[in-house]
Amino acid sequence: MIHIPFNKPYMTGRELGYIAEAHANLHLAGDGVFTKRCHSWLERSTGASKALLSHSCTAALEMSAMLADIRPGDEVIMPSYTFVSTANAFVLRGGVPVFVDIRPDTLNLDEQQIEAAITPRTRAIVPVHYAGVGCEMDVIMDIARHRGLTVIEDAAQGVTARYRGRALGAIGHFGAYSFHETKNVISGEGGSLLVNVPEYASKAEIIREKGTDRSRFFRGEVDKYTWQDVGSSFLPGELIAAFLWAQLERADEITLNRLESWQRYHSLLAEFEIEGWLRRPGVPSECEHNAHMYYILLAPHIERQRVLSELKNRGIGAVFHYVPLHSSPAGRSFGRAAGALRNTQELAYRLIRLPLWVGLDATQQGEVVEALRDAIRLAQR
Ligand SMILES: *Cc1c(COP(=O)(O)O)cnc(C)c1O
Repeated sequence: MIHIPFNKPYMTGRELGYIAEAHANLHLAGDGVFTKRCHSWLERSTGASKALLSHSCTAALEMSAMLADIRPGDEVIMPSYTFVSTANAFVLRGGVPVFVDIRPDTLNLDEQQIEAAITPRTRAIVPVHYAGVGCEMDVIMDIARHRGLTVIEDAAQGVTARYRGRALGAIGHFGAYSFHETKNVISGEGGSLLVNVPEYASKAEIIREKGTDRSRFFRGEVDKYTWQDVGSSFLPGELIAAFLWAQLERADEITLNRLESWQRYHSLLAEFEIEGWLRRPGVPSECEHNAHMYYILLAPHIERQRVLSELKNRGIGAVFHYVPLHSSPAGRSFGRAAGALRNTQELAYRLIRLPLWVGLDATQQGEVVEALRDAIRLAQR
């Protein structure tokens, strides 16, 4: 009996050793040696002026919303086809998500439709780099510059990926990574804020440390620490940072292994595209992606639910996502759609994600593809 799970968290083998080290250091709260190692790795590899570990990408987005000073009624442009945290982080500050359609090739925010969604209340744009493929950031940054808007990259899926040579998350004013178990580089729950505007680095530290200048105090820059601004506790403890360090050390190998599996699916499924059964993901030439995900877009005459259940019967863990936010109960009450969102409405219901994890081998991928062939044949309307 075949059993190929949708996801399988990859362990590099050094996680427990580093956790034991943190334990022996008797420093369990945040911002110890492992957190510092993670920060410098992230800064070095992305070029961000400041990286700050957080509990999650959700927390990093919440910090970004505070840094961007989003206030009640401020509008924030974002795709509807994304995870709830993209919107929730701004709704928590009273912001209003304004949902814009996605491009059919990458399923990223359609940069050509941003201008039409801008109003006098617009304060920020939140591009989401879906599947670790970069949004058209040059165009987005130009619009933001002309209109005086803040750009916050939801780069939850984008660790190690690049757009025109620049790390995703390090192009806008702020960026947010996720180290959730389902992402490429993991710590169970975890994330990082990237601050790309140096003047905001110290405000970011204050927001993350309960509104205090504790980070400055520990660097010896002030002789006591006090309440400076609004903030919360967004930093992870050292055990999480120790685990994450084991993963960051191997981030490039993880990406390469995933890219190999991604490319194998891509070659095997070329024939399915010729058959007219599905469309494969598009990666613009300016993007170096990180193989976060392999998805397919089924042709309209193939019934998705049937394909998913046939795959399940054959022991293959395939899934779909997202219910577009503009059509969800909370999205309808907190936000609004800018235009008809035709691509979102259509493509969200045709997408399937195939198993992709470090260690997935060629035999297993062959099995996935053969099971998919059978499933599609049965699911033709
Ligand atoms: C995973 C994900 C998040 C949330 O990440 P957490 O670390 O679980 O908070 C946010 N946005 C996108 C696009 C994601 O894929």
